[in-house]
Amino acid sequence: MLTAEIIAVGSELLTPRSRDTNSHYLTEELNAIGIRVVMKTVAGDTEEYLEHAVRGAMDRTPVVITTGGLGPTEDDITRKVVSTVTRRPLVLDDDILNGLKRRFASRGIDMPVNNARQALVPTGADPLSNPAGTAPGLWIEDESNTVILLPGPPAELKSIFERECRPRLIRKSGPAVLVRRVYRTTGLPESTVDQHIAPIYSQYTNPETTLLARPGQVDVHLAAHGKTEAEAEALLSELGARIEDELGEHVFATDLREMEEVVGLYLIMKRATISVAESCTGGLVAERLTRVPGSSRYFTTGLVTYSNASKVDLVGIPPLLVQMGGAVSREVAVNLAESVRRREGTTIGVGVTGVAGPDGGSEDKPVGTVHIAVAGPDSTEHREFLFPGSRERVRWQSSQAALDMVRRLLATF
Ligand code: AMP
Ligand code: MG
Repeated sequence: MLTAEIIAVGSELLTPRSRDTNSHYLTEELNAIGIRVVMKTVAGDTEEYLEHAVRGAMDRTPVVITTGGLGPTEDDITRKVVSTVTRRPLVLDDDILNGLKRRFASRGIDMPVNNARQALVPTGADPLSNPAGTAPGLWIEDESNTVILLPGPPAELKSIFERECRPRLIRKSGPAVLVRRVYRTTGLPESTVDQHIAPIYSQYTNPETTLLARPGQVDVHLAAHGKTEAEAEALLSELGARIEDELGEHVFATDLREMEEVVGLYLIMKRATISVAESCTGGLVAERLTRVPGSSRYFTTGLVTYSNASKVDLVGIPPLLVQMGGAVSREVAVNLAESVRRREGTTIGVGVTGVAGPDGGSEDKPVGTVHIAVAGPDSTEHREFLFPGSRERVRWQSSQAALDMVRRLLATF
């Protein structure tokens, strides 16, 4: 499989102010034609460092694509550096120069002297025409490398890539596609997911497997290449089925849906409705459920019963219950879920109460203790969790666990 590296050139890309979105675009485009991106570098506008980056990339990888640094100003150094590394002296390309002059003339201005730099090309480089801007891209090919220089402005880069690069790259890579699939899981830590599936996926080099952990969620990414999409998809399905089998109910999506979307689909499918009463999550469960367009079909009510008094007043929790066991307990969670369900007349009621921290923990109820209950028509499920991490993480993981409990309950309907 043909591999590529991308070098994004521009000092601004090293700061938080500016993002290298070009490489995201290029990676997607390259993957779609079966070229794997194996490394990306961001280099400032410094000749010495860019030289290292270009030399290193050319030593390692057959296709090297640079973006940026092709402008007319002193800090645009990509042309010069590539000319040095490839030992191809810069020569003036008359066609490019005339094109630049025409472009400026058509706007009724004389071409600034600086712009002539954009007509300099490493000897033997093929210009890639750029109708959207001044600087053409450049294509340099020798025995071991293809080096492609593209301008930084995203619209120019895209138009050159689509018209000039994609067809040429397809010819180089032959028929090949790279397809991806993601299995989203919840309820297991990353290391446990890996323990389960490493013995399976390590038998395969194609697809390639990567695990990506977020709070309350571990995504298993598979990338397969093949001569055709069908061939690559078949490879994904084979390994994917084994992974799904191993992880069972922990897999909640195989199509990049978020948990709240999956729950929404279940609710519609089962013609069920839902209401929630939340304490420590402060409305996060309701917020996530209602993020999904069309959620008014199943979501009726979200109550944030933060104080003890509001638990009593709004949901009708017996005052004694809160006083005796405290607000964070199995009984309160169950009562929140059952009360909100009854009051709102929904199929499902959810109750969440816990200690999000950083204060408020105690020996028997440390920070991260969360009780979640999901009441259905026939029974109420309760679980107690101890979530690690900051207040933010505890709240997020609580919302994830609550939604997951709803998903699991709906699966039994
Ligand atoms: P340059 O060709 O380096 O002069 O870049 C021109 C403009 O293109 C910059 O000011 C950025 O706005 C944009 N640009 C350059 N590199 C990137 C990149 N990697 N991703 C997104 N935009 C970029
Ligand atoms: Mg620049």
